[in-house]
Formats: sequence, C-alpha cells, structure tokens
Amino acid sequence: MTKARAYMDWNATAPLLDAARDAFLRVALMEGNPSSVHREGRAVRAEVEAARRALAEALGAKPASVTFTSGATEAANTVLTPHFRMGRSPLSIGRLYVSAIEHKAVFEGGRFSAPEVSIFPVNADGVADLAALEALLSTHDKTSGLPMVALMLANNETGVIQPVCEAAKIVHAHGGILVVDAVQAFGRIPVDIEALDADFLFVSSHKIGGPKGAGALVARGEAMMPTPLIRGGGQEKGHRSGTENAAAIAGFGAAATEVNALLDMRVADMAARRDAIEAALLEIVPETVIHGRLADRLPNTTFFSLAGMKSETGQIAFDLEGIALSAGSACSSGKVGESHVLKGMGLDPRMGALRISFGPSTSEAEIAQTIEAFRKIAGRLAKPKAA
Ligand code: PLP
Repeated sequence: MTKARAYMDWNATAPLLDAARDAFLRVALMEGNPSSVHREGRAVRAEVEAARRALAEALGAKPASVTFTSGATEAANTVLTPHFRMGRSPLSIGRLYVSAIEHKAVFEGGRFSAPEVSIFPVNADGVADLAALEALLSTHDKTSGLPMVALMLANNETGVIQPVCEAAKIVHAHGGILVVDAVQAFGRIPVDIEALDADFLFVSSHKIGGPKGAGALVARGEAMMPTPLIRGGGQEKGHRSGTENAAAIAGFGAAATEVNALLDMRVADMAARRDAIEAALLEIVPETVIHGRLADRLPNTTFFSLAGMKSETGQIAFDLEGIALSAGSACSSGKVGESHVLKGMGLDPRMGALRISFGPSTSEAEIAQTIEAFRKIAGRLAKPKAA
C-alpha cells in the first residue's frame, strides 16, 4: 500500500484553489485576445480587468496601479532598475539597498549592476537591522540619483515578518523609494500598500493558490514607474508588453479574493497549529532549533535545524515518510544550496535546516503524519550528543 502524502511545502507553491481552477479553465477556453476590440476580445479583457480589481482590493491599491507580470521574479526585475520615469521626465536611482535575507529574485539586484547594490544586515532573529540601513542611507551619494531600498514583508525560509512600516519612515526621510516583496505575506497576513507606506510591492499567484505563471507589480500611485523590462505591443499601459496570460490572471484574481476572506480567523487558526507543531518538535527533541522563534513570524512557517541532520538527507527522509517539505528556497536544479538567510542571521549556512509550511486547508492528519515522521527521523538521523 502506498503511504498517504502530506503536502507541507506551501511556501514553495500552494495547492490550486477550486475557485482559481474554475476561473483559469473558464478563461483558457475563451477565444479572444484581451487587446482585440471585437466581442470575443472584450470578454477576455473584462476577465483581466476583474482580476485587476480583485488584486487592487486585496492589497489596498487602485486597479490602475496593478501591472500583471509572469510572476514575482519578473515583477522584481521590472521594478529594481536605475531607470524610472516620473510622468514624462526620466528619474534616476543611484543605488539599491537590499536586506541580507531577500529572496534571490531581489538579492540578485534586478537591473542594477553588482557595484550599485549594497546589502544591509539582519539580527540573529532574522529581523532587518534598520539602524544599519539608516547609517548606509546617510552615506548615500544623492548626485548619483535617489536611493532605492528593498525589504521583504515576510521571509520565505524563516517566515520572519520585517519592520516594513518603520523602514518606510527611514527610506522616505532620505528621499528614497521602498520596494516590498510581499510574496510570502500575501494570503498569510494582511497586506495593504497604504498601511505599509510602500512605494511598490509585488506578489505571486502560485503562492496564494492561484495558477503558476502570473504575478503583479503594484505601485502606490501612477506617476512614478520603472522603465519597462519587456517592450513591444504596449500592453499593461506600456509597463509590460506581451499578450496577458489571461487564464492565469483570472485564476490569480479569484485566489486573491478567496485568501483575503476570513483572513483574521485563518491567521489565528494557522498560528495555533504552527505552535502545536513546534511544541511537538521540541518535546521530541528539546535541542531542536527553531529559526526566528523570538520574532514575529508568518502563522504557517516553521524553519528548524537538528544537530547532525543535513538538509538534503532530512528532506529525502521526510519524502520517504510521505511528507513533502523543503530545505528553504527551491533552487531550479532541485539541489539544496547553502542558505544565505541562515548566513545573514550569523549562522553556518551549511547547517542543515528544513522548512515546514502549510495552509488553511492542511488537515490534522497531515500535521500528525509530519510530527510522527519527525519522531522517526530524529531518532535515526540526529547525531547523538558526545558523552
Ligand atoms: N519572493 C519570494 C519571497 C519568494 O518566496 C518567491 C518564490 O519562491 C519569489 C519572490 C519568486 O516568485 P515567482 O515564483 O513568482 O517568480
């Protein structure tokens, strides 16, 4: 008999929601191009615009400020650029400041060259060091252009929530632009661009139960926009050319509406389940290290290390027990790389660490199976302490 599977890797990608699948299939079967003026085209356009309104509503933005992209990586590469426009005038950004724990989509610096990117540190709990950011910004050479700061709202590995509102005050006091990667926060905690005081944020469909292949760059206003990354037919008001992935966008819109409904209740419920998982891990092996435990974290994420357990071996062992979880970021090769997040927190990046991440529809049976697998694996893999 094959073992039941427990999917505990929602931060890598969340299962497709029924509402998203229905919207995706309905629009995939429609004939028109959303830019065509005939009835078929207009029908697809209406679906894309409804999704734009849904995203705007979910993120406290105006529909006109939402630009659809192929995903968060494309949105990051669009907005992280030295070249902006303010209305018709060019606007230069002189330097990009990124936190040490940004996802690689941001950490790589987008369209800035490597010497134009500075990294600001995080503390041992994985929280951005804003005093260090402020010190860096006070040395910013304004003659090169404005400073741009990228700080994620929640880290994909640890789930640690970052002090974005406080960062916004500092960035704006230095005349800078704040870009927020809200990919992991969206659908897990409330995200509102106005409340965050961010200039730009971006989100990804497949992390909230929408189809893969859609994302959105959301601006606070409409006046200041990056020069486009993809030029061509002028779709998305010229900010992102290419025929819109209308089916994925429609699914994204449906998912955005669904994940934001009853969010407060879901957050409390997920946090209670995360706390129960962590209590069980600590009860089984009291030396288990839960990264970022003292910080404010996403309610669905536990990133832990066990002495003597390598990430790769641990991941395979859990997989054999029927549990899909991961070692942090998923590299395209499927290999487990060193975690620059752990390194940023002052830990040995080669240290084995595994991430459990789940969602509102995760069952109690999946959680119990994960804990039982941990019990078995910890007994087998963890290095016994030297006598
Ligand atoms: N930012 C964060 C925090 C993520 O976790 C991810 C995906 O792993 C991305 C950006 C990239 O998202 P996408 O897969 O939509 O390009």
